Amino acid sequence: MIPVQGFRDRRVGVLGLGRSGLSAARALRDGGADPLVWDDNADARDRAKAEGFASHDLTKHGAFEDVAALIVSPGIPHLYPTPNKVIAAAWAAGVPVDNDISLFFQSFATRDWESFDQMPKVIAVTGSNGKSTTSALIHHILQEVNRPTQLAGNIGRGVLDLEPAIDGEVVVLELSSYQTDLARNLTPDVAVFTNLSPDHLDRHSGFGGYFAAKRRLFAEGGPDRAVIGVDEPEGQYLANQMSGGNGDDRVIRMSSGTKLSGPGWNVFAKKGFLAEWRKGRQVANIDLRGVAGLPGAHNHQNACAAYAACRTLGLAPKVIEKAFHSFGGLPHRSQRIAEVGGVSFVNDSKATNVDSAAKALQAFKNIRWVCGGLEKEGGLDGLLPHLSGVKKAYVIGREAQAFALQLGDLPHEVCTTMEVAVAKAASEADAGDTVLLAPAAASFDQYDSFEKRGDDFAAQVAKVGKA
Ligand code: ADP
Repeated sequence: MIPVQGFRDRRVGVLGLGRSGLSAARALRDGGADPLVWDDNADARDRAKAEGFASHDLTKHGAFEDVAALIVSPGIPHLYPTPNKVIAAAWAAGVPVDNDISLFFQSFATRDWESFDQMPKVIAVTGSNGKSTTSALIHHILQEVNRPTQLAGNIGRGVLDLEPAIDGEVVVLELSSYQTDLARNLTPDVAVFTNLSPDHLDRHSGFGGYFAAKRRLFAEGGPDRAVIGVDEPEGQYLANQMSGGNGDDRVIRMSSGTKLSGPGWNVFAKKGFLAEWRKGRQVANIDLRGVAGLPGAHNHQNACAAYAACRTLGLAPKVIEKAFHSFGGLPHRSQRIAEVGGVSFVNDSKATNVDSAAKALQAFKNIRWVCGGLEKEGGLDGLLPHLSGVKKAYVIGREAQAFALQLGDLPHEVCTTMEVAVAKAASEADAGDTVLLAPAAASFDQYDSFEKRGDDFAAQVAKVGKA
């Protein structure tokens, strides 16, 4: 745990008692503060009580008297679509509103660092897609070169649950827009922006608000190095703003599909090869085509991002290349889970939106596509240009019929359940086909989470060939 500094003997409100809220309360207590915890949900309050935290009703009039700060969980929308009442009361009372990410940056460096030979560093990764894969890949590469490293953030481990840094350690954080939006301290050494496509628009009041939330990672304090995907205008703008001109090594521009060989520092992937160019000269070239854990152009973009972040730490191209080959990929993201009779089964349950599903569809050929679920706004039109590799769709979800209607001429079958979809797809597949779960929809109509949906896919795949 990282004890929170700066609040000794002071009262600090904690709103939302899920994983990150509870971990913030513990870390505050460990740093000598008096956490005042609150959650609308009585079960959550009981869980906090079991750990010895007294709940303090932050919805009551006068609740913010003598409170030094309010720490808010990322799941609670503070401003849009409507301001949260408790948070608005903190604003009215002049109490700074903040989150666990900020407490981490405020508390990470300690006196112990004075004895270190090599200062610890933080690499923070944001963007619309590929954050988890990129973060996990950076972490993996660092492990492979025996550099002390820890991974946390949106990827599952709360940032305040990290162990205090040891000499030379590199902490890799995956940060969502919800997390970067509210944090008052955001001071990574290296900041990575993978790409940008519409998501969570309600919460940020549109695309501009969403970009503004992500951009804060580069604005508040400013990282020493920025790795920025420039395939969208927003990334180009950000890279331009961060850089002092062509000779500025602070920014590494990154692309998937476009050759970036101009002045400055560039990393790009094209036709399966990763290239690094610096000051108009090629420095490295890596063949990604045989890297099993990173299939498809989208993963080649993640490889570029991780490569660039590791290059800022001084790692050599060949050690990064070697580590790519031992990366197993993350569960539920283009994960090859089985091969039966020449048919591959790939779980990309995390493809919850049109953009990520389109990327998965481009990464494979001869696809038997398991899709459908709770549709996101905007419809499926964005998918239609990417269906040429699909032999047939097997549609799941409560609204499978409506989903299927949007697929145009594509051969499809309304299966509704995963069990039927996988059994059908497997029975119709020929050797060389890929049965791909890439739903292009959220899972909540039939499952608690995309992980549960991916697990069900795997369970159904396990039955194939045994029937
Ligand atoms: P995030 O943490 O940003 O959600 P993940 O690495 O978990 O990203 O990947 C989420 C989904 O997006 C997966 O379906 C994956 O196949 C797809 N994906 C991964 N990397 C990219 C990328 N660079 N661009 C677009 N889609 C991607």
